[in-house]
Amino acid sequence: MNIALVTGASRGIGRAIALTLAGNGYHILINYQSNTAAAEDTLAAICAAGGSGELLPFDVSDTQACEQAITGWQNAHPDLYIDVLVNNAGIRRDELLFWMKPDQFESVLRTNLFSFYNVTRHVLTPMVSHKHGRIISIASLSGLTGLPGQCNYAAAKGGLIAATKALAKEVGKRRVTVNAVAPGFILTEMVDGMNEAELKKTIPLNRFGTAEEVAAVVAFLASEGAAYITGECISVNGGLYT
Ligand code: NDP
Repeated sequence: MNIALVTGASRGIGRAIALTLAGNGYHILINYQSNTAAAEDTLAAICAAGGSGELLPFDVSDTQACEQAITGWQNAHPDLYIDVLVNNAGIRRDELLFWMKPDQFESVLRTNLFSFYNVTRHVLTPMVSHKHGRIISIASLSGLTGLPGQCNYAAAKGGLIAATKALAKEVGKRRVTVNAVAPGFILTEMVDGMNEAELKKTIPLNRFGTAEEVAAVVAFLASEGAAYITGECISVNGGLYT
């Protein structure tokens, strides 16, 4: 059985990734923080489509919670290993730097960047020993260009892209690939409150993207067809930054 752990799979982009990978035959470990009802909806949708999965809640910003949940799952399933990890869980707390409170900076760094360290470390050893693994992290256009009001989020996502490139060089010889996907504006709860009508005028394709359009790129990076791609960051942004 092939296993994919998708963080933040209860809603939005993570949910679409979970459904797409389940459709490709993966058993999905559905991570989320607190929204159990939404995570159960994701699981129900996977099962209704003929796939399989299970809930694995933990806070990706909490180093100990990540270790307990992931090593706990691994110890309970000694014959299996997680061969695809999608680091997707993320938050934004936008504010101009002048007004930004320490907690706004720290919580965004912890959830979007420290999570890479917290989660990835625990899936690496089995991937390396099986000489097969895929680590895919959801970055952002903001991590490539910087966006005003997002010094915290841009720093976290830029750091995630840099960490992706560094880890790709550490584990490439063991046939573990490490890549990032950088979405632009994608229709999820995260963009609630943004002025879509105005913002879409700045996008060459003249619309926000869908979670399924991000999931399709993640599924490709998880596939055997992407075996020779590592250390990359692929943009899915309607032409905003190419
Ligand atoms: P949503 O706000 O729709 O969903 C966020 C998901 O992350 C939820 O499943 C939530 O779980 C989970 N989550 C949040 N914090 C934690 C945590 N500490 N531990 C575990 N899970 C957590 O976000 P999107 O789907 O829009 O975003 C997904 C990723 O894509 C993020 O990394 C985001 O930064 C990135 N992105 C999104 C863009 C967009 O336009 N939407 C653009 C560029 C990047 P729960 O339901 O329990 O709260």
